[in-house]
Amino acid sequence: MKMMTANEIRESFKKFFEQKQHAIVPSAPMVIKDDPTLMFTNAGMNQWKDIILGTRDPEPRRRADTQKCLRVSGKHNDLEEVGHDTYHHTMFEMLGNWSFGDYFKEGAIDMAWEYLVDVLKLNPEDLYVTVFEGSPEENIPRDDEAAKYWAKHVPEDHIINGNKHDNFWEMGDTGPCGPCSEIHVDSRTPEQKAASGKTGRELVNQDDPQVIEIWNLVFMQFNRKADGSLEKLSMNVIDTGMGFERLVRMMQGKHSNYDTDVFQPIIKAEQDITGLKYFTFEEETETPISKDQDNINVAMRVCADHLRAVAFSIADGQLPSNAKAGYVIRRILRRAVRYAYTFLGQKDGFLYKLVPTLVHEMGDAFPELKAQQQLITKVIKEEEDSFLRTLDKGIGMLDKAMEEMKSKGEKELNGEQAFRLFDTYGFPLDLTELICRENGFTVNEEQFNVEMQKQKERARNAAAVENSDWVELKAGEQKFVGYDYSEYECEILRYRKVTQKKNEFYEIVLTATPFYGEMGGQVGDQGVLVSENETIEVIDSKRENGQTVHIVKQLPKDLTAAFMACVDTDKRDASAANHTATHLLDYALKQVLGDHVEQKGSFVSPDTLRFDFSHFEKVSDEQLREVERMVNDMIRQDLPRDEHRDMPMEEAKKLGAIALFGEKYGDKVRVMRFGPSCELCGGIHATSTGRIGFFKILSESSVAAGIRRIEATTGKDCEERLYQMEDILKNIKSFFNNAKDLQGVIQKYIDEHDAMKKQIEGFQAQAVERAAQRLVEKARIMNGVKVVAGVVPMSPAGAKDLAFKIRAAVEGSLLCVIGSHDNNKPQLSIMMSDDMVSDHGLNAGQMVREAAKLIQGGGGGQPHFAQAGGKNVDGLSAAIDKVVELANL
Ligand code: ATP
Ligand code: MG
Repeated sequence: MKMMTANEIRESFKKFFEQKQHAIVPSAPMVIKDDPTLMFTNAGMNQWKDIILGTRDPEPRRRADTQKCLRVSGKHNDLEEVGHDTYHHTMFEMLGNWSFGDYFKEGAIDMAWEYLVDVLKLNPEDLYVTVFEGSPEENIPRDDEAAKYWAKHVPEDHIINGNKHDNFWEMGDTGPCGPCSEIHVDSRTPEQKAASGKTGRELVNQDDPQVIEIWNLVFMQFNRKADGSLEKLSMNVIDTGMGFERLVRMMQGKHSNYDTDVFQPIIKAEQDITGLKYFTFEEETETPISKDQDNINVAMRVCADHLRAVAFSIADGQLPSNAKAGYVIRRILRRAVRYAYTFLGQKDGFLYKLVPTLVHEMGDAFPELKAQQQLITKVIKEEEDSFLRTLDKGIGMLDKAMEEMKSKGEKELNGEQAFRLFDTYGFPLDLTELICRENGFTVNEEQFNVEMQKQKERARNAAAVENSDWVELKAGEQKFVGYDYSEYECEILRYRKVTQKKNEFYEIVLTATPFYGEMGGQVGDQGVLVSENETIEVIDSKRENGQTVHIVKQLPKDLTAAFMACVDTDKRDASAANHTATHLLDYALKQVLGDHVEQKGSFVSPDTLRFDFSHFEKVSDEQLREVERMVNDMIRQDLPRDEHRDMPMEEAKKLGAIALFGEKYGDKVRVMRFGPSCELCGGIHATSTGRIGFFKILSESSVAAGIRRIEATTGKDCEERLYQMEDILKNIKSFFNNAKDLQGVIQKYIDEHDAMKKQIEGFQAQAVERAAQRLVEKARIMNGVKVVAGVVPMSPAGAKDLAFKIRAAVEGSLLCVIGSHDNNKPQLSIMMSDDMVSDHGLNAGQMVREAAKLIQGGGGGQPHFAQAGGKNVDGLSAAIDKVVELANL
């Protein structure tokens, strides 16, 4: 059989499950935007969490997809392995099939087997399966059921019991979970098998790089609660995940994921750029490689892997930054830069040069890469450049520390310094150790770890949020009615207590709600819950698992009462107008700047709007004005809101709706149209553009490489600003006797002011000239040294001028001491010829410090020239005498 390419393998998976009546769905974004418990998609099931928890319609009940995953934080973190082994990635594709209350263990096991063995023709003798051995303390028995179905396909000695760590899958600390069955492949070469003397069975789950897990079939049956206990899910769920890169490796007969066509093109580009060689598994087996070559191999794998993770995140709208998800991405990128810098000799940006290859290879399957190639390249390059500068600074600091150790005869860098390098310059311990080792030093690791621990605790204390379990009052889902109502009757479905930094509040989910929870950049509604006997203030609302969560400071006394949920409509109307204005702004920017403009972030509140978008240079004042005119035109046309709920995605696209990369859309979408502006959007909008009133841009700036930010305001706020500006202008006019031609009058004043300033400077220069002459004339000669001294009224700058003039005018040895005063502030200046420093051993800096005590001041300077300011003008003569006395002539 001809070797299948990665793209063909991906297609064959989809085709197989399509034939098994699965709906083939798109991958969700890798960066998760509206879930406080998870930053990145780490498994295919994340996007179905609300279905599994029973808060979303499970139809269609059979689905399959390939999902972009990232495992670099939280419960699933493989970052440190990546590059060192050949089968863990930061970003990888997970092929998955799901059943929500349809088939269960038997169906899942049969289909997985059929696909691997009958369709892909993997050798069944190399396949091993695991089943959960059970957990007496959690009262879960061994998964005999799964074992029974496996026995239909494999001999008993290919079925292995696995413990809770390997065979009980959990998404995070809380949430859906259940026993699982994994399929492992023994991919050793015949020579390796013969040499090891071990069966594949003995190597399963033993971290052997050739006997690895490729597919995990999870039988979701439980929900893990905050107190650690398990409750049964309302329906059984099948959730499977197969590592695409690992499958490709098996299918292409390779022994490392990096030797497949998923990675080889990138690795080839790395070799071309660096002039270094990468050794594939076969090459390595033939000629054992040196430690240095192994470092090169690891570094090339790290860079190839991290490039994908970073590029896909940027395409999903997550730029590297200093906080949260952005910081995770920044750390991945920096890890790659360090490896390229240390082992591939790349002292300048390197990763960005690999982007064209990545886009060439993956751009067809993932169009978001192609569409945003320019932005991805720019952002990566800028990040690399800035980190390399930091790296240089860190290395400078380390050099200094090593020099100091050398002079003191020490051999060990203390852990605090190593930690500072880590904390401020991003140097991990191994890099510091490496550099130290090359220079004959060691690092105190123990101290480093102590510092690290301290920092972790600081971070934990700062971030600690404690959620209690939900208390269910009624069963059911929440109905959102906010698009049609601002008040609605409801009851409480469930509530829970949340503690954050010692503050306590409650979260409430209602049977029905008009409250819009914060999402898509629009802030959450505020308002009240009113029952017959009390009124509870809703201070904020947010969205979680597709539901609005209302945040209140205190719970109602009667939790089962009927409530009226009332949104604060003043605030909401203002937010809605700003949101609609944001759509018009997006449209106008595309018209004025071009189609490359893509929304990269947005914030809409009652007071203001902020819009981030891709564009590669400053937007000029003329362009901004054009955008404003266009938006205000659309406001005056009073374009009506044309809303389509539940429109099939295909139809929405035909209407010309703009969808964002990195957003999660269902099959049915909501389309929001105002005249020519047409976007997919779930937000609350004005009924027509006229409601916006007026639109004004307040600022335009850069937020990151290739990303600009516009801040703007609308309606009433514009009106207030106009009044303020008018008042200011009126005031200014009154300063100038209400002159008609205000600009002309101000210009005249500026010209006069400039002319006067020039004149004054001329007078000052003359004064300095005269004073110099006078002082030099009455100079004394002491022991062959000309002593020029005196008190003059003069500015500090003038006094400095004067001192230099005198030095230039006097030949031979000179001691010049000037006491000057300006606005009752004294200043002492000492100027000497060079021989006074070299032959007489004098130091103006020291002398001025001593003498300045007499004017209650202090200062310093160079050996031949120094100045000091003070408070006591009357002390100037005494200070001058003191300097002459210190000179000891
Ligand atoms: P492993 O023990 O090899 O780390 P896992 O138990 O963490 O795997 P699961 O959480 O069950 O894996 O994920 C399902 C499948 O996804 C695995 O069978 C594997 O093929 C793949 N996979 C998991 N983690 C990675 C990773 N970091 N890189 C590439 N593929 C992965
Ligand atoms: Mg793992």
